Amino acid sequence: MTSYPHLLEPLNLGFVTLRNRVLMGSMHTGLEDRARDYRKLAAYFAERARGGVGLIVTGGIAPNIEGWVKPFSGRLSMPWHVPRHRHVTSAVHAEGGRICMQILHTGRYAYHPLAVAPSRIRSPISPFAPRRLTDAGIRRTIGDFARCADLARNAGYDGVEIMGSEGYLINQFLATRTNHRSDRWGGSLENRMRFAVEIVRQTRARTGPDFIIIYRLSMLDLVEGGQRWDEIIQLAKAVQEAGATLINTGIGWHEARVPTIVGSVPRAAFTWVTRRLKSEIALPLVTTNRINMPEVAEAVLERGDADMVSMARPFLADPAWVRKAASGHTAAINTCIACNQACLDHVFENRRASCLVNPRACYETELPRMPASSRKRYAVVGAGPAGLACATELAERGHQVTLMERSGEIGGQFNLAKRVPGKEEFNEALRYFSERLRETGVTLRLNHEARADELVKGFDAVIIATGVRPRRAGISGEDHPCVLGYQDVLGRNAPLGRKVAIIGAGGIGFDVAEFISQSPTSLEAELARWAREWGVDTMLTTPGALRQPCPEPAAREIWLLQRSPGAPGKRLHKTTGWVHRATLRARDVHMWGGVTYSAIDDAGLHLRRNGEALVLPVDNVVICAGQESEYSLAEQLTARGIPTHRIGGSAVAAELDAERAIREATELASQL
Ligand code: NAP
Ligand code: SF4
Repeated sequence: MTSYPHLLEPLNLGFVTLRNRVLMGSMHTGLEDRARDYRKLAAYFAERARGGVGLIVTGGIAPNIEGWVKPFSGRLSMPWHVPRHRHVTSAVHAEGGRICMQILHTGRYAYHPLAVAPSRIRSPISPFAPRRLTDAGIRRTIGDFARCADLARNAGYDGVEIMGSEGYLINQFLATRTNHRSDRWGGSLENRMRFAVEIVRQTRARTGPDFIIIYRLSMLDLVEGGQRWDEIIQLAKAVQEAGATLINTGIGWHEARVPTIVGSVPRAAFTWVTRRLKSEIALPLVTTNRINMPEVAEAVLERGDADMVSMARPFLADPAWVRKAASGHTAAINTCIACNQACLDHVFENRRASCLVNPRACYETELPRMPASSRKRYAVVGAGPAGLACATELAERGHQVTLMERSGEIGGQFNLAKRVPGKEEFNEALRYFSERLRETGVTLRLNHEARADELVKGFDAVIIATGVRPRRAGISGEDHPCVLGYQDVLGRNAPLGRKVAIIGAGGIGFDVAEFISQSPTSLEAELARWAREWGVDTMLTTPGALRQPCPEPAAREIWLLQRSPGAPGKRLHKTTGWVHRATLRARDVHMWGGVTYSAIDDAGLHLRRNGEALVLPVDNVVICAGQESEYSLAEQLTARGIPTHRIGGSAVAAELDAERAIREATELASQL
């Protein structure tokens, strides 16, 4: 008996049976790009195969040079590219897994001058205008896809995924937004979809009947000039006819201004789209986006929205996700919190992907978990993300660990983050750490202020993870009763008036602005409200499924301020920052840079902007001016000769984020 009978049911594809309905979706890690990294890539996938996933799809591999994501990124077009892939396929097969390689041609999204596209229209996310493909060029590109699939088969892959969504080359042929051709590859739907259908047909002809071909089909383009729903149905039927084995769901082009995977997108927000296609298509359908826990996936399958679920980031967070679900140990799942911070943000910065809650992701060979050579006694002070990660990792390795926390709960700053709209997933991280503390046998002392005199005896070393304290802004009148700290607002629900100024527009200033500007909403209506707010046409009547966004009015008038020139929010994370800025713009939050604060008094906040003195007649001022390290205990211990290690915010407060805190903690704990 299992709690997830639909999720764990095998899927018979005719010539092969997948062990369950879980597909590890494609995710670029950066390890695909260099031959020397393929052993690391193999270890990464092998661990997910060992964890029980039914079918893995690799990150995108280009079928030719024009299709590169960026210069010299992963490509499979020559026989000498094959051996490196064999490391991956044999490692996965040795663990009883199955793996498909994604064939990705970026088209006009390519970040290099060799980019090609159906028409010469530059994308808003690449500086390179693409060259228009000729008829011969199109036919050669189709052949490149088929050859790439054939080479993938030689490399031992169980199949390929043809990337037809997210605004990449195939999608660019399908939509009139990017296809302005008038030859046999443009104009009518039949012409626009010829490229996609020919790729599937020739790939099937080249690879034979017993090779998985997944076609990733853009079911919602979410851009103007995107496909209409009737066109999408026709395409799906043609792809089925051409020889695909599975159809996977693609949601939103990369240039779309509707968020599709960040934490503020409701869980399983798009499975209704896949369900709309189900009655039209006989092939098994895979659904995707914001599915991160087994009960969510099970409900999606039980409702009949799809035949399989795809998850990408949840497998960075926890390679053993399926095994834990199958054994009923869901509480032990390290849940993806949809922050994008260490995965997609890294990829966009040309860094190797990893995971905020699991720094071992993509570092399996470099950060292995080894039992300690001798058992030691450690005190960890502070049960924020750094302290939790360090304590549990040390205990897992066999050390005896006591974790001391001044407050009555674990989590530190995560307890503030979890209250911010769109960051509710932080609750899952806290649930995971509670379970890890229990499993690893850490002795937890809550409501316990650690003192130097108790730490000098009984421990071999002390790890200081005492975090940060809010920085004062140093403005005259900062002690006025209308002034609050962000911790008062996020942590203690301090009452606020109708007009509020926020001093400091960093990550926390934005969080506070979102928290205090949101209108009370009903949870049941969450998906409908979200779709209305971002202008998603859930009736599927418009091209690209877009309609006029209808944001809810803000709960109060807010000024979000910074002294640095320019618009606030430029330093927020790449893949999520634009969503925060757009949310606040839609709520008419005044976002001002280049201000100078003068004073706070009964009249409000006095400041200078563009050389002019102003008074903002606000009821409250909330200080979000960054933090300073809290490490007084470390100084006392060092003075008494006790070995100490400082991690997270207590080591360096500037640019502190949970990603660094957890990574530092894990690295330290793996060495002690
Ligand atoms: P932060 O990002 O460093 O921002 C601090 C803000 O305070 C800046 O806008 C700064 O702007 C202002 N400031 C600094 N000193 C000041 C002073 N003396 N008087 C008035 N204003 C002052 O810090 P944070 O917002 O506390 O966030 C901490 C960390 O958490 C960040 O590193 C971030 O990575 C992470 N975080 C990120 C997010 C997110 O991306 N959504 C959310 C939460 C937290 P000026 O100096 O220009 O005035
Ligand atoms: Fe998920 Fe964040 Fe990890 Fe990415 S970094 S996999 S979004 S938890």
